[in-house]
Amino acid sequence: MKIRSKEITVRTRGYCDIIDLTPQMETFLSEGGIREGQFLVFVPGSTAGITTIEFEPGLKKDLKEFFEKLIPSSERYHHNDTWHDGNGFAHVRAAFLKPSLTIPVIGNRLGLGTWQQVVLIDFDNRDRNRRVILQLSGL
Ligand code: ZN
Repeated sequence: MKIRSKEITVRTRGYCDIIDLTPQMETFLSEGGIREGQFLVFVPGSTAGITTIEFEPGLKKDLKEFFEKLIPSSERYHHNDTWHDGNGFAHVRAAFLKPSLTIPVIGNRLGLGTWQQVVLIDFDNRDRNRRVILQLSGL
């Protein structure tokens, strides 16, 4: 069994900014020498999450509207009393979405659907340089 790790940095604008990570994951997979195994993608930090979507402009808007309805940015959050950073909504959204995902690797390819991309969603209330950890394990 081999394990390969890589850290990438992604520039985000915050406020539910959605970034497609799939091309960088595919590049790492092609360099990693692993044919069968698992591809873990993890974002360190408590105001962003990882999921899969069909990466197209309409759905990006749909998701943004969905999170605003489900966990409104205008609500009162106790976290904002603690730090006065105003991003309580971002922490709650990130906890709900989760910070990582594991994708099966089959025949040196990501086992994703044709219209399925791995995305980072940055919920914070400011621009960020986001570290993302990619980790491949397998044979
Ligand atoms: Zn905070």
